[in-house]
Amino acid sequence: MKDLFLFLRRFASPYKWNVAGSVFFNFLTMGLTVFSFAFIMPILRILFNLDTTSYVWQPWGSGQFQDVLINNFYWSVTQIISSIGPVWTLALMAGALIVATFLKVMAAYLSEYCVIPMRNGVVTDIRNQMYSKIVSLPIGFYTHERKGDIMSRLLGDVGEIEASVAASLAGLLKNPIQIIGYLFVMVVLSWKLTIFVFILLPIAGWIMGTVGKKLKVKSLEAQNMLGTILSTAEETIGGLKVVKAFNAEKHMEDVFQGETDDYRKISNSIQRRWSLAHPMSEFLGTIAVSVVLWFGGAIIINGETAIDAPGFIYYMVIFYSIINPAKELTKVGYTLRKGMAALQRIDKILGAENPIKDPENPVEMPKDLKDGGSVSFKNVSFSYDGERYVLQDINLEVKAGMTVALVGQSGSGKSTMVDLIPRFWDVVHGEVEVEGHPVEAYNVADLRGVMGIVNQEPILFNDTIFNNIAFGSPEATLKDVEEAAKIANAYEFIIDTEDGFQTMAGDRGSRFSGGQRQRISIARAVLKNPPILILDEATSALDTESERLVQEALERLMKNRTTIVVAHRLSTIANADLICVLQEGRIVEKGTHQQLIELNGVYRHLVEMQRLK
Ligand code: ADP
Ligand code: MG
Repeated sequence: MKDLFLFLRRFASPYKWNVAGSVFFNFLTMGLTVFSFAFIMPILRILFNLDTTSYVWQPWGSGQFQDVLINNFYWSVTQIISSIGPVWTLALMAGALIVATFLKVMAAYLSEYCVIPMRNGVVTDIRNQMYSKIVSLPIGFYTHERKGDIMSRLLGDVGEIEASVAASLAGLLKNPIQIIGYLFVMVVLSWKLTIFVFILLPIAGWIMGTVGKKLKVKSLEAQNMLGTILSTAEETIGGLKVVKAFNAEKHMEDVFQGETDDYRKISNSIQRRWSLAHPMSEFLGTIAVSVVLWFGGAIIINGETAIDAPGFIYYMVIFYSIINPAKELTKVGYTLRKGMAALQRIDKILGAENPIKDPENPVEMPKDLKDGGSVSFKNVSFSYDGERYVLQDINLEVKAGMTVALVGQSGSGKSTMVDLIPRFWDVVHGEVEVEGHPVEAYNVADLRGVMGIVNQEPILFNDTIFNNIAFGSPEATLKDVEEAAKIANAYEFIIDTEDGFQTMAGDRGSRFSGGQRQRISIARAVLKNPPILILDEATSALDTESERLVQEALERLMKNRTTIVVAHRLSTIANADLICVLQEGRIVEKGTHQQLIELNGVYRHLVEMQRLK
């Protein structure tokens, strides 16, 4: 229950008016239901000739309000009977019942009508909030979470909320109002009979509660399993080539089937429990009705005046009407528990803290960094897990316009080092500075705004080439994009495709070769025209011919800016102003190509190793 209120406070507050409208129409529906049933009573009395009393009009206020109301209502009915006869009165009553029912169903419809935009709105809001959060969370968050699991939260759990919480909203507003309304009428009709209901209700509630208790825990388990299943599917599709090459289809199938089997079992258990809600509330409801029927019947048979027979029938009609909303409400309660489990999983993402924050008083990024900006590392140490240091005591001064190369064995920390500059990660000790201020002093967007990054793995979106190049530069014209493509040595092959710049790149750019993808991603960096350029093994994945084309493109791109280049092939960085050799997270040598060759150390060794190949 507490969860539910928190949920409503968080997500339903923009929909206050929808709630108000729905509550209003629900009250109207309830009133009309009670009212339309009221027409049945005189019909019964007339049919069975039960009523032999002669009614006299009583002025309002001359007694208990409901007594006067009922008396005067019957008086009006007898008046009508005496003027148009019983048959036509019956017809009139039936007509009134039809009208009242029509108004009732209309009001019920209007209350649903008000809830629908809220239902869909809440789900849309949650989905959008999730997406914003997913985009804003730092890279680090995703090294701990599986992609498939995150997808399952975004799709599956939001879907679960849609199917459970959101779909229950209408019932949540409707059923309690109906129950309270009917109970009120019942108390008015006969509080003696109604006492039973008040004794039985909490008992029934307790029984229902114990059965439903485990639902949330189990649902959480089930949703987690679904996340695992999706992760496995995602990984398999992503690595299908390896799966096939190693004949591992059977193995993957076994893994997958093991997971789906667990899911099947827990789903059975959840759904069985959930299905109990309906029959159980029906059974408990019938027990209550039977007890009241017996007790009320006894009162009438004994001739006590607490209630008369038609009054009792009306009472039972109202009481019976409670069972339906009560049944629905228990079902809503059970469904909500499933939904709350999904919400808990969603909150793992929505509530995730983003450690990469904008400062309160950001330093303004200088606008005139035409010839590059300066970058420096001061005593920087970094660890991914807080235990093993991947970088230690890194000191490096990159002046504006310089080209600095980082070399070293794979795993020596080169990528980690350049990832610290755009704040993909924050340093543990020391300071990374851009233009003399720590990177944490700038707004993250400003900081990244002055950087262009080209990685080993070019990332293209399944969009047109134009949009892929203009990504991040929304004002770019076709001419700008063409210009950038020319500098990146990409123009020729782009215009050779059937639709030129409007050609779709395919899933992750799969329509193009690695070298072509890389040149498109270089064009993207060219178009952004960043003062600081970070190249992390941009040419490593390429064959010699594409490497030459990409290298040419890069050299054009590196002019007039600060460039930090991580290079695998050392021949490409011989002209760098400064070369740093990294070994196990430390800079072990620093100098120009010539100086390092003369030093006859690690760098020279690396160069000679590559020559041999
Ligand atoms: P390089 O780019 O020089 O090949 P990296 O900077 O990628 O090296 O990696 C340096 C070290 O940090 C390696 O030992 C690697 O295992 C570790 N590492 C890289 N990325 C992560 C990560 N996201 N989480 C934990 N450890 C990582
Ligand atoms: Mg690397």
